Amino acid sequence: MDDRLREECAEQLRASREEWSKRLDAIRSDRRRESGELSPDFEDQATQRENDETLDALDERGRHALEAIDAALGRIAAGTYGECARCGETIPDERLRAEPTAPSCVGCA
Ligand SMILES: [Zn+2]
Repeated sequence: MDDRLREECAEQLRASREEWSKRLDAIRSDRRRESGELSPDFEDQATQRENDETLDALDERGRHALEAIDAALGRIAAGTYGECARCGETIPDERLRAEPTAPSCVGCA
């Protein structure tokens, strides 16, 4: 892989890291606002619980996304970015362009 593509991927990774961090902050402050007492109204309670579940699911997705992004940025820093973590083959450029966090080639994925 050439330096230019590596830099492009690094930029994409940093941008999505920023985006996810913001989203997670927003989720967490939403949750703090709602973590007061449950409403005495039964229907409100159901809505509150549903919101919590949605927030949990998003929170978890965000954490996984950030982990994958950090791992990819770590590989860039270590100079192993673009090598399949399993077989060591070069991951095709177009795969990394489409999915900059991809840790392995298509064959190993
Ligand atoms: Zn592989």
